[in-house]
Amino acid sequence: MPMFSKGIVLSQHKEPAFSKPILRFVHPQTDSLKLDLKKLTVQSKQEAIIEIARLARIVDERDGKLLYRKLKKCQGKAKIVIADALDDEPYVSSRIAPLLQMGEEVADGLDLCCTVAGCQEKSIMVYKMITDLETRIPRTIQKIKVMRVRGGYPASQERRLSHLGDTPRLVVGVGALIHLARAVYQQKQQSTVFLTVAGNCVSSPMNLEVSLGMTVMQVLERCGLSQQPTRVVCGGSMTGVSIMDTENTLVTHTTRAILAFRENQRDAHYNCIGCGRCEQVCPSGLNPMYIHRFVQTHYYKGFSLFDPQLCIGCGTCSYICPSKLEVSSSVAKAKAYVLGDSADTQEESEPATNSSKPEQGKPAPKQSPRPKEARQSPEDDLLKDLPNAQ
Ligand code: SF4
Ligand code: SF4
Repeated sequence: MPMFSKGIVLSQHKEPAFSKPILRFVHPQTDSLKLDLKKLTVQSKQEAIIEIARLARIVDERDGKLLYRKLKKCQGKAKIVIADALDDEPYVSSRIAPLLQMGEEVADGLDLCCTVAGCQEKSIMVYKMITDLETRIPRTIQKIKVMRVRGGYPASQERRLSHLGDTPRLVVGVGALIHLARAVYQQKQQSTVFLTVAGNCVSSPMNLEVSLGMTVMQVLERCGLSQQPTRVVCGGSMTGVSIMDTENTLVTHTTRAILAFRENQRDAHYNCIGCGRCEQVCPSGLNPMYIHRFVQTHYYKGFSLFDPQLCIGCGTCSYICPSKLEVSSSVAKAKAYVLGDSADTQEESEPATNSSKPEQGKPAPKQSPRPKEARQSPEDDLLKDLPNAQ
């Protein structure tokens, strides 16, 4: 049951994908791509690992950044390297499953990152709230301590790693660590990602290792569809986006899940009832209800009053909304407008009839105070991980 505080506790529906072996669904041509390391001329082991990560084009699935850049930034500076296997969204187990089934490669990847960082300490981060699993998560994997992160969704990185204080650290996704180990020890270029395929339309939910560039439909067909989905989500169940064109949407480095659902009539959307739950749970202290109304009425001037740029895209407001409104999508649109990267920004109009619009000359509705950590975007979170971040 959700708790109405900043963030919520979610039921973690990981089964049945989690307990099954990870299957490979790959293009033979791309899967056999090998790195040419003959011309590799570097001064040190650290530089060799960084250069191999660059040549292998490894992208960290947790933030979409090139791994070699992250390694370069923390070269000789980080005091601890952490493997991120936090699957805190329902249905998604595409980090923890590879961790448990390919622990040796994860440990190798961590060792390589430690070599670059010049430190000995390493750890693995998993989500503690996974309660309905038959598979036990051990206390150590390959003798590396497993850190269980508590708290509701979304747990900000500040809270996750608060016990480390200001210790310089490097946090890397489990998938990227596996690809780093394969690049260094098998000269393999990254050509695949790990993702979960689930939802009430999927005949056989599972975790797959899939070639980059496959279409969402190819992946869904691999797992089988028991009924025609009314909604396909690419990404997590909370943070993913609904997609219309499954034939032309491709698997990318950051695709963590493909979820296919059939929603019944009771899931139909209603009007906002002004219950305020979205504001109560928003970890960034925003008022999504007002932003949603402004987006609905194209009242672009109103966006800046509510700081949508602070949204971290967690989707908690949509999850909690009793009217099943796509509140987080509205906030994302407003954020794009405020940050100036929306195509839908040319026209500014007043809302047609909107009781919540601030009247001229009157102050805007009061914003709730934002917790300090909530001012961080995921990008800020990452930069704080690394020493001398700009
Ligand atoms: S407004 Fe943004 S940060 Fe707040 S709950 Fe919704 S998606 Fe999360
Ligand atoms: S958007 Fe949904 S959660 Fe927010 S106030 Fe309206 S009905 Fe309630």
